Amino acid sequence: MPSTITFMGATGTVTGSRFLLEHAGKRILVDAGLFQGIRELRRRNWAPFPVPPASLDAVVLSHAHLDHCGYLPRLVAGGFAGPVLATGGTARLAGIVLADSARLQEEDAAYAVARGYSKHAVPEPLYTQADVEATLRLLVEVDHGAPYLLPGDVRLMLRRAGHILGSCSVVLGLGERTLTFSGDLGRGTHPLLRGPDPPPDSDVIVVESTYGDRKHPPADEAHLAELIRGTAARGGVVLVPAFAVDRTEVFLLTLGRLREAGAIPDLPVHVDSPMALAALEVYREAISRGDPEIRPEAAASAARLLGAAALHEAHSAEQSKALNDPGGPCIIVSASGMAAGGRVVHHLRHLLPDPRNTVLLVGFQAVGTRGRDLLDGATMLKMHGRYVPVRAEVAAVDEFSVHADAEELIGWLGRAPRVPGATYVVHGEPDAAEALARAARTRLGHLAVVARTGERVRCD
Ligand SMILES: [Zn+2]
Repeated sequence: MPSTITFMGATGTVTGSRFLLEHAGKRILVDAGLFQGIRELRRRNWAPFPVPPASLDAVVLSHAHLDHCGYLPRLVAGGFAGPVLATGGTARLAGIVLADSARLQEEDAAYAVARGYSKHAVPEPLYTQADVEATLRLLVEVDHGAPYLLPGDVRLMLRRAGHILGSCSVVLGLGERTLTFSGDLGRGTHPLLRGPDPPPDSDVIVVESTYGDRKHPPADEAHLAELIRGTAARGGVVLVPAFAVDRTEVFLLTLGRLREAGAIPDLPVHVDSPMALAALEVYREAISRGDPEIRPEAAASAARLLGAAALHEAHSAEQSKALNDPGGPCIIVSASGMAAGGRVVHHLRHLLPDPRNTVLLVGFQAVGTRGRDLLDGATMLKMHGRYVPVRAEVAAVDEFSVHADAEELIGWLGRAPRVPGATYVVHGEPDAAEALARAARTRLGHLAVVARTGERVRCD
């Protein structure tokens, strides 16, 4: 039986990362991500998994973002019995992210039933809290750099990816062959996390391409400070739909630094997302523990700027509702980052009609999400079954990306000790994936191709 990789997701899109390795009669899935964005993509979460979930021998997670781990409870509900290998950071964050995902799906299903605007005959959640609890029991922690033997004598090594706490590239050894899955790659410039490890000597590299056709602008904190000062001066609120994990921390660190430098007024900063607050706690704990992923030189200021004294924490629904009428300028950081769901949708409903307010988009906005619509200049937005006018200022700042850009991706690929036999480009919208594949071919001499949906390739 040949050894093969099947690309089951994150092909032509940045969501739904799922790569199946079949080797020596065993099945190992690298990432079990949720499809997000347009309905056509989301519908793929409901399709039967291409192989019986019970036939999977293990799942390895690159990190705790939903587009990499959010499908896992569905696999478990379908009969997958573990193990799930992940770093400690990923395990802790995945517990938070998955519980939130199940809750959102249960709420959305219930809300759709109550309001009668569901697209399904009988709305049901993709999975439940109970499925998530069963999933978390299957987690097995593996440290960065520590060897681990998977079924089929597949050697596993997780290497630092510098994207979010716990993130890793997944390296699998099959006999003499080495396969490297980049996972999402961070930048060397993360204020808190050390940068990604270079790829090891690999026969096959599977690389993400989220920003494969773009260059991140240099950090323009002056522009950010100006937006905040301008909004405060007209008595408005700055609403930041935040990716709950990591980008929230990076954004809060930047706010803290600007405030300490006197570049922005000392406005109350509200973190209004139970998930973001729980994730913040995981970061605080990693900082205070001196986790090897944290840059030692950043630990002291991070502990201060992310500390409870610097932030207002809105844990309860009442605290969140109170922010609909905050009574003066402030900054509200609320999930989800693409405004696809969560408390931020309620805040958008209240804040978008008032031109004094500013919605600040700080992350990648996938096609089909409210965040993307705002970025594209929508003059109205549909929320909870009704349209709301967009009169608030909408601004985007790119410097909070925790994804490598085109040059940084090529830089990472170029640090491999030799040109791999094949490079498969995934996790990018078509133009981005094509651009990265082209650059890998012309600049690095890689045999680089954009993986197609459902495509299977030999890796033996
Ligand atoms: Zn990610």
